Amino acid sequence: MNIKELEQEVKGLIREIPDFPVKGILFKDIMPVLRNPQVCNKIIRTFESVVRDWNGEVIAGIESRGFFFGPSVAFNLGLPFVPVRKVGKLPGDTVAVSYNLEYGTATIEMHSDAIQPGQRVIIHDDLLATGGTAEAAAQLVQKLGGQVAGFLFLVELDFLAGREILAKYSENIFSIVHYEK
Ligand code: AMP
Repeated sequence: MNIKELEQEVKGLIREIPDFPVKGILFKDIMPVLRNPQVCNKIIRTFESVVRDWNGEVIAGIESRGFFFGPSVAFNLGLPFVPVRKVGKLPGDTVAVSYNLEYGTATIEMHSDAIQPGQRVIIHDDLLATGGTAEAAAQLVQKLGGQVAGFLFLVELDFLAGREILAKYSENIFSIVHYEK
């Protein structure tokens, strides 16, 4: 599959909404992408082919837009899917990490038994902005004794350089769509 062609196809579907959820943020709305099953299948197949070399044992998807593609990729590869959720949503014993967002601050959690010590975990979200959310997820994985096998995104805002923060955790960082400004 040609990733550049897919990037253009996905970009053509992403809707940009100014000043959402707060003034100054140009929100990339991926909901129109989800209404196109052919493109979604290409995204899932591309993700699968990219992560095949990463030797991941678990895919951890970040609430909530990391739940759209993460489970399909995980189950197609025969891997477990683990949700990373906003604080207070998971019913069992949890570990938590707080972090700064492009807008505001937040806390995310994982179930304490979601990852076994030494397991290689692929972290997935819809969009990489400053990298704060994905870094917090990486810290959760490490708190549970897991290893970060890589980071997988649909969209990356290159100008916010989130990738530089994530490089501390894994050299494997992949996004289909890039925005340079
Ligand atoms: P960050 O922690 O700064 O990398 O932000 C990533 C998280 O915030 C992801 O869960 C994204 O869904 C969301 N996000 C941040 N900025 C945007 C944006 N411009 N458009 C859409 N989602 C965003």
